[in-house]
Amino acid sequence: DATVRRIAAGEVVERPASVVKELFENSLDADASRITVAVEGGGVEGLRVRDDGVGMTAADLERAVEEHTTSKITGSDDLDRVGTLGFRGEALHTIGAVSRLTIRSRPQSGGRGHELTVEGGTAGEVTPSGCPPGTVVEVEDLFYNTPARRKFLKAETTEFDHVNRVVTQYALANPEVATTLEHDGREVFATEGAGDLESTILAVYGREVASSMIDVSAEPSGPLNSVSGLVSHPETTRAGREYLSTFVNGRYVTAGTLREAVLDAYGGQLATDRYPFAVLFVAVPPDAVDVNVHPRKMEVRFDDEAGVREAVTTAVREALLDEGL
Ligand code: ADP
Ligand code: MG
Repeated sequence: DATVRRIAAGEVVERPASVVKELFENSLDADASRITVAVEGGGVEGLRVRDDGVGMTAADLERAVEEHTTSKITGSDDLDRVGTLGFRGEALHTIGAVSRLTIRSRPQSGGRGHELTVEGGTAGEVTPSGCPPGTVVEVEDLFYNTPARRKFLKAETTEFDHVNRVVTQYALANPEVATTLEHDGREVFATEGAGDLESTILAVYGREVASSMIDVSAEPSGPLNSVSGLVSHPETTRAGREYLSTFVNGRYVTAGTLREAVLDAYGGQLATDRYPFAVLFVAVPPDAVDVNVHPRKMEVRFDDEAGVREAVTTAVREALLDEGL
């Protein structure tokens, strides 16, 4: 039974980045205004997510790592739940089954701090801990008890790239949350949490990219309620597509339609195999989008793919035209 559980866990928790995604979601759900992600050795050695959210009592802590426990309303498969949809109260339980997991937490509303460790699925006692209000979750030795799964992990730099991508997307989607990412004790980026996309892009991608960004904003058009965000000047590009970030109703998604739509807007202006930066927020009526997600992916399909594509291309094209491009 424990073995079956470990295998199942490995299917869902694929790599350090998937752990970071779940922990970051939990911190957001806890209304944190500051979230710090620190990883060691690409996250394989260890990773820690600290927040200043609502925190947990001793009883909350105990419940948090049990099977199928969630303090959150579930049941509606809408986009708002897409982040935790794959788990439904199982992320911490699942992570605890394949690592050494320590949670320290103190309620923001007062009371003492406590900590709890889970090793390979076995939870220890909840003990007092002198921690600040909020929550720190530490995951060490991921997959130490599932060697087959551990073998699938790539080089530290590759695993860190995945972690970086996850934290970057969440930072961009939540400019009001001060987000810090550290790797092996060094700060990779830190957003201010000032609430504006421009300063968040500056923190995450640097001055050259930030200063080349062009405002996109469009009224309702076709199946879309709105399109807004920033795209880069056609000369500010990278070799990979990973800097094309798209969000649907505030959630990071990978949607080929949206990426293609952005690229179409540039026409022939991009050099061969070069891709622009984009941070684009698309709002649609919830019933116009199909959330067909595997917990590891964030894929969506629109009822009217062609209409969405055209509306996004038009919005980005107009933004570029406004700049004389
Ligand atoms: P879910 O997020 O689907 O509820 P999880 O296993 O991710 O399931 O978390 C279980 C529970 O633990 C949450 O419902 C929440 O009550 C609590 N929890 C987890 N992380 C935090 C956090 N960072 N701050 C406050 N509470 C948390
Ligand atoms: Mg969760």
